[in-house]
Amino acid sequence: MDPGILCFHHCDHKVFCTIIPEKCPVCDQKLDRYDYNLLPFRVPYPFVKASQHPRAIVMKPTHGDFLNDYYNSKDLHIGVTNSQGCVIEFSEEGIRGVDLGTKKWNNIDSSSEWDQCLLLEQFDELWNEIWDSILLKVSVWKSTPEVPIKFPFNAENIPDSIHQMITEKRKLRAKWHDSRLIVDKKAFNRACKEIKELIKEHENITFNDHMESLSPLSKGHHSLWKATKQFRRPQQSNPPIKMDNDKWAQTDDQKAGTFATHLSRIFQPNNGDDSYEQEVDNILEQPGPSYSKSLCSVYDPNEKVVLHAQMSTSMINVLVPLVL
Ligand SMILES: [Zn+2]
Repeated sequence: MDPGILCFHHCDHKVFCTIIPEKCPVCDQKLDRYDYNLLPFRVPYPFVKASQHPRAIVMKPTHGDFLNDYYNSKDLHIGVTNSQGCVIEFSEEGIRGVDLGTKKWNNIDSSSEWDQCLLLEQFDELWNEIWDSILLKVSVWKSTPEVPIKFPFNAENIPDSIHQMITEKRKLRAKWHDSRLIVDKKAFNRACKEIKELIKEHENITFNDHMESLSPLSKGHHSLWKATKQFRRPQQSNPPIKMDNDKWAQTDDQKAGTFATHLSRIFQPNNGDDSYEQEVDNILEQPGPSYSKSLCSVYDPNEKVVLHAQMSTSMINVLVPLVL
């Protein structure tokens, strides 16, 4: 809001104020209206509200406002308004006015901070669309951290001398591309070969140094344990599973199903009419050493079936004396 800025001329100085003081702030004399070199007059208000000036470049003090807080050495802050008059600005906290996630204007209202600023430049309404799209794009670009381009080899660890040779090599390639002369091609090829050998040699040296510095006791990067951990482990592969229909099981369901069918087929309950059954019974019935009772009491009747099924006559002959 315009507070009404007044200007008067006294003792060779221009004084700006909102209320005429009793004494001149420069010479400290009492101000009588006849002493003025130039009678007080009202200065046109130089500041604007950014919200009323779309597509513009605006400026204000970084802290406070021009009329109350600003003096020459203070920092100034620049903002750009979009086609709606919203200020896009970049401060210590990053970009304001643009939502980096959605890449759209965000609705934070900063108009009160920008209602006393200087208008540096304003552009025509015709520019609305282009102005907004460029402003949005640049804001997002500038506030996105750059991802360093990775070279095929570890470029960070290559010494400067090799870097310089790589630059040279690129120049030689450009020269050859221009001239298409065999001489230039040979020079380029020679440089390539030389660099390749140097990098190989450099990597060997670095690797040797690393190996020599390893120790089981030191901590951190050179710890032997840490280095061994980084070795390539043998890959554990899961063999593919074939289903009944001769197709490969792909999903977890198919794999589990195949296992279930397989296991249920293998683990069948004994039907009990095995030939062994009879054989065992025959042996147990035989007159002679009276171990039949004790044998039965040693085994759990539930287990008996299984055991019988697996024993041959010769096994029983060996086993029975042991049990007794
Ligand atoms: Zn004065």
